[in-house]
Amino acid sequence: MGKQIKTAITPTRAEDYPQWYQEVVKASEMAERSPVRGCMVIKPWGYSLWENIVSILDGMFKKTGIKNAYFPLFIPLSFFEKEAEHVEGFAKECAVVTHYRLEKGADGGLEPAGMLNEPLVVRPTSETIIGDSFSRWVGSYRDLPILINQWGNVVRWEMRTRLFLRTSEFLWQEGHTAHATEAEAAARTSMMLDIYARLAEEYLAMPVVRGRKTAAERFPGAVDTLCIEAMMQDRKGLQAGTSHFLGQNFAKASGIKFQSAEESEEYAWTTSWGASTRLIGGVIMTHGDDDGVVLPPRVASSHVVLMPIIRKSEDRVKVMTSVETLSNALKNITYHHHQLGVEIDDRDIGGARGWDWIKKGIPIRVEIGPRDIAENSVYVGRRDKEHMDKVSINRDRFVGEVTNILDEIQDILFERALSFRNEHTVSIDEHTEFYDFFTPKNQEKPEIHGGFAYAHWCGENACESKIKNDLGVTIRCIPFDAPPEKGRCICCGNASSGRVVFAKAY
Ligand SMILES: [Zn+2]
Repeated sequence: MGKQIKTAITPTRAEDYPQWYQEVVKASEMAERSPVRGCMVIKPWGYSLWENIVSILDGMFKKTGIKNAYFPLFIPLSFFEKEAEHVEGFAKECAVVTHYRLEKGADGGLEPAGMLNEPLVVRPTSETIIGDSFSRWVGSYRDLPILINQWGNVVRWEMRTRLFLRTSEFLWQEGHTAHATEAEAAARTSMMLDIYARLAEEYLAMPVVRGRKTAAERFPGAVDTLCIEAMMQDRKGLQAGTSHFLGQNFAKASGIKFQSAEESEEYAWTTSWGASTRLIGGVIMTHGDDDGVVLPPRVASSHVVLMPIIRKSEDRVKVMTSVETLSNALKNITYHHHQLGVEIDDRDIGGARGWDWIKKGIPIRVEIGPRDIAENSVYVGRRDKEHMDKVSINRDRFVGEVTNILDEIQDILFERALSFRNEHTVSIDEHTEFYDFFTPKNQEKPEIHGGFAYAHWCGENACESKIKNDLGVTIRCIPFDAPPEKGRCICCGNASSGRVVFAKAY
């Protein structure tokens, strides 16, 4: 008889990954479903993680000259219709406001009374309404570039939703820039992708593949879409940020024109780029384990929880005083330019207390009881280690080394995620091998399978969509770092000039 290993989360990742994800989000108290179908309530523990992401990105954007602004939530339908591919790409996901004002109906309930002359689209993205402003802000080449970012929410009406990963309303930022030259706009597109890649790798400890989308996977209306793709622990890809080079498509649609230095009238070159609360889902699925969320210290909602051990009531004052003193000492420490986040949990609920923090993924747990105080030590557990793997550390040494411990956890999480990705990344040249790689053995309840497959592709949409229809596998990106290499398309066998990354994806 095998020994039953108990985990804090049921089912485990291996047993049922999608269900594991839902349970982890619930147990960590990061978010919950709302009464509005497809919309989520982001709870404080999840929201503070988002605030940290916002602060990091916002700082990086501003260093490159970006300024924040705000545009309306509602977009007149006629604006939205200006760019044909754009409207086609988003039409099915649009929420539309057609009425205003409520009044009492015949049955006593409230009914919308007035009908709008022109329906308003709840923004799924803001290229068109921001383009309208840009068209009025730009007159001469001296007005360029315009470098704008907006923090806000968008709505994309989704039928199948999953907390953080796919919800009808989500939080994000969308950057929009306009430039006098194509080269400058293209450089901006790459610059912003680099920022997303840095956020993912240095802060979220999430290794990413940088590349460009195929025409079929591009943002509707874009000339080129650059992306970063991460591998989750079910070996599926997650698009973690995109940066679009829009050419002059949206400038022409919105009339963003300028007088050049040579006094000719020209259309501007624009870009847009975004990252969303989906990143939180990415953090959970990259680092989480069968005991819950594991937060990378550099974005963690909080860093250390102090848990007083009070067995006799006469010890309470002494222990709590000691805990408060330690809390103050820790709060005086800066960790990567921010005050260390410290929680005190003195709930008397036994072992459940420690488990609550394990499930929330706080990097460091500290227990302090009368014996620790007598020995001037603290009892420390780390989220990157087994829950029983706790050590007694001299209290002053702990205070002195806490930031090093956090950095070490951060590095370990990144290395783990990178080895996981490497383990499940393959090069495939045989058609059958490719199909086997992406086909689960258990068709009824598919086990975790697949990964990133670097394979040759001829460039034809027919092959791309055949693979998508057959296997549910898409080209995640044409990676920047793949060397040019002649080969045969994995689907049709025709000539190919390089490998692309195939994977199942969120
Ligand atoms: Zn082909």
